[in-house]
Amino acid sequence: MIALKEHLRKFEKGVFVLKLCPNIRMLMASTEVKPDRLTVARMRCKQWTCPVCSVRNLNAWRVHLSKTLTKRFSGVLWAFVTITAPGHLHGEPEATVTRLQVVWKRFYDILRRWAGRKVSYVYMYEAHGSGAYHIHALMDIGAIYDKWPVIYVWADPRRHHPMQIWLEDTLTSIGGGWVCDIRRVYTLNGGSAAMAAVAYAISYMAKSGSWVKFKKHARRIGVTRDIGGLPKLPKTGLTWFPVRELSIDDLISHGTIEDVSMRRKVLSGHFEHGYYPPLDPDHRGNKE
Ligand SMILES: [Zn+2]
Repeated sequence: MIALKEHLRKFEKGVFVLKLCPNIRMLMASTEVKPDRLTVARMRCKQWTCPVCSVRNLNAWRVHLSKTLTKRFSGVLWAFVTITAPGHLHGEPEATVTRLQVVWKRFYDILRRWAGRKVSYVYMYEAHGSGAYHIHALMDIGAIYDKWPVIYVWADPRRHHPMQIWLEDTLTSIGGGWVCDIRRVYTLNGGSAAMAAVAYAISYMAKSGSWVKFKKHARRIGVTRDIGGLPKLPKTGLTWFPVRELSIDDLISHGTIEDVSMRRKVLSGHFEHGYYPPLDPDHRGNKE
């Protein structure tokens, strides 16, 4: 939260009040919202490393998963699976991601054959303190888990469930680490199982850690098609076009420009060095 405050202090012009993304990628503009003006909206960066967008991403996932899991997956039993890379890779975070991508594919194929049906999931990568990545996955295999009797015969209390042993054996045979975990997501206090599952998933998504380093190599969050990613914005039927920025000439030619993200009319005083939106000078260094 300290980072967030520092970040926002740099964007004084009302931005921090509305908690707008400080890394605006571009503007979307339309002349069709109101006929007498140019309407612009700021497109946020959506990065997990952005202090504003990470919070908004998380909320969007919470809403999306809550809706999907309570409606389309109503009555489904969930399990939560953790997969790691082998210990010798833990000093190289990037290598753990590369390895986990392969392990995840192999694991999913085996699980699907074993279950004899399609398995639905939401998975996410999470960076641990050491920098090594883990995969946490919410999977609709709770009913399979429940079919196995729990046997407490091993000295290691972690190995109490046959599926835990199966998971360890499977993962180590396909290049994963032996550190892994499967547990059922149980309903809490009579609440819905789906909401308990969402709470699990969201708590791991919130640990965005140092994800920035690997975003080009892997998706941080993966879902099966039946769960789906975050919904796109609804189509408005209006024509919008992307603009990197506006110049003072745009203001002169359109007469009125309205920034709906800032909920204000754009005045000539809002332009900085002739451009709008006014960004951190670092972003515009080459223009001056
Ligand atoms: Zn952002």
